[in-house]
Amino acid sequence: RLEIRNLRRAFAGREVVSDVSLKVTRGQVTCLLGPSGCGKSTTLRIIAGVEMQNSGEIYVDGNLVCDTVHRVPPEGRSIGLMFQDFALFPHLSVADNIAFGLKGSKSNKRARVLDLLEKIDLTRAIDQFPHELSGGEQQRVALARALAPRPSIMLMDEPFSGLDERLKDEIRDSTLDVLKAEGTAVLLVTHEPDEAMRMADEIALMRDGRIVQQGAPYNIYNAPVDKAAAAFFSDIN
Ligand code: ATP
Ligand code: MG
Repeated sequence: RLEIRNLRRAFAGREVVSDVSLKVTRGQVTCLLGPSGCGKSTTLRIIAGVEMQNSGEIYVDGNLVCDTVHRVPPEGRSIGLMFQDFALFPHLSVADNIAFGLKGSKSNKRARVLDLLEKIDLTRAIDQFPHELSGGEQQRVALARALAPRPSIMLMDEPFSGLDERLKDEIRDSTLDVLKAEGTAVLLVTHEPDEAMRMADEIALMRDGRIVQQGAPYNIYNAPVDKAAAAFFSDIN
């Protein structure tokens, strides 16, 4: 469970994240949706702990992980990350890539790797190396690697944008199946309305650093808050 309150961030006097508040519940996918430059990635980086906010608080499972005084480092936040260019380690096998961030006994790690390989339907690739996999398969391994330590929150920044258009819908669906099976709270950033419509339980529509509308995809699609929001959704296929 993730909660952020009144997050603000300015660069050189220009505010790019303005008073953003959000809650993401376990087992739910919330999409932060908005046009290029509206502040989505900056928001995600602040939550991940690789960028600092000017004000506002972040809570993971009810624990304060960051305000302007107190700051838990990224690796202590129980957050999994997946970005577009989050490459696999080329010199490690699929199994070792997934096990990379895991602690504990060898047999426990092995069990977790096998469990995830089954969920991503790639058991057959266990001993292969990243260059022997297709882009979509590498994507699934990257997802498994991020989920392996059972993070409370998954942050995903345009994770499908490097993929073949024809494969996207299939990979979106299979990703969603894995995320639901793991029960993680997911905050997914995208600038594509159809991706948000397909994947989100809840959409937070962002513009110029602010969340201008929030709700179920169907409700936002049917009752956009203003003309700009309607136009943004109008080119969905
Ligand atoms: P896109 O969909 O294109 O990825 P975005 O919504 O993720 O866009 P951000 O990357 O959050 O947008 O950037 C928001 C604004 O903040 C942009 O105008 C960007 O130039 C600016 N910005 C982001 N990081 C920095 C930085 N480190 N220094 C200065 N300006 C920055
Ligand atoms: Mg971005």
